[in-house]
Amino acid sequence: MDTFLLALTRLQDWRNIIDIALVSMIFYVVLLLFRGTQAVQLARGILVIFVITLIVSQTVQLTAFNWLLSKSTSLVLVAIPVIFQPEIRRALERVGRTAPLLVRRGDNAGTQRVINEVIKAVEQMSDHRHGALIVFEGGTGLGEFIDRGVAIDAEVSSELLTTIFYPNTALHDGAVIISGMRIAAASCVLPLTQRELSDSQMGTRHRAAIGVTEQADALTVVVSEETGNISVARNGRILRLDSSRLRTLLSDFYRP
Ligand code: ATP
Ligand code: MG
Repeated sequence: MDTFLLALTRLQDWRNIIDIALVSMIFYVVLLLFRGTQAVQLARGILVIFVITLIVSQTVQLTAFNWLLSKSTSLVLVAIPVIFQPEIRRALERVGRTAPLLVRRGDNAGTQRVINEVIKAVEQMSDHRHGALIVFEGGTGLGEFIDRGVAIDAEVSSELLTTIFYPNTALHDGAVIISGMRIAAASCVLPLTQRELSDSQMGTRHRAAIGVTEQADALTVVVSEETGNISVARNGRILRLDSSRLRTLLSDFYRP
């Protein structure tokens, strides 16, 4: 009780409050940046090992083991940035990308153009029964999928999209990822959903479309090669629709 009161009196100093708020905020931002990446599982594993070794070394006085532990701490500090190098790079990239994304999302003429181009391409591909899978990146970065695809980094145009998905060409397999208002990559492999699908006509392309929206707040547009049907997936659900409804959903998605 005494220590609690003491802590309370210390809290009254405004600097301590700012101090705690700042540290909490940094932890929150770091967690937010790494959310949904494999780094989270790795970090959890490291934390468990760290806690166990700490308990063992504190309860049982093992001199040699303690010596090894104290010497290896600095080694671990060096190893962490090396192990997490891709995640750290992506997190920093995301910090750099967030600001322009916010500006772009409010940029109405730009987003309208992107939406028009995508719809034109989707209508054409649907008519020709050319399969397509287009992912719109939301707040959760899709860097890990973009990095494993073929980098494009080009303005969105219906010509480019229909060319990418033209059957039997080098890039037609896999997904196109649109990040902000640019085509970031093509031929990206997405995670498949494990869920049972009600529509038996939906195969791996549709599973991939749903799978990525289970892990990220992305929106996915699918054109079926077999039926020409257009579908949209979001939050782990998929919906068949026509191109006018697609326009509404994309406009909602791009609204700041
Ligand atoms: P469709 O209605 O167009 O036939 P479908 O849902 O029946 O689609 P499949 O016929 O199995 O699915 O489509 C296979 C295509 O889906 C592949 O050629 C590939 O382009 C795409 N695809 C399959 N798995 C993935 C994946 N994990 N990530 C991205 N794209 C994928
Ligand atoms: Mg199929």
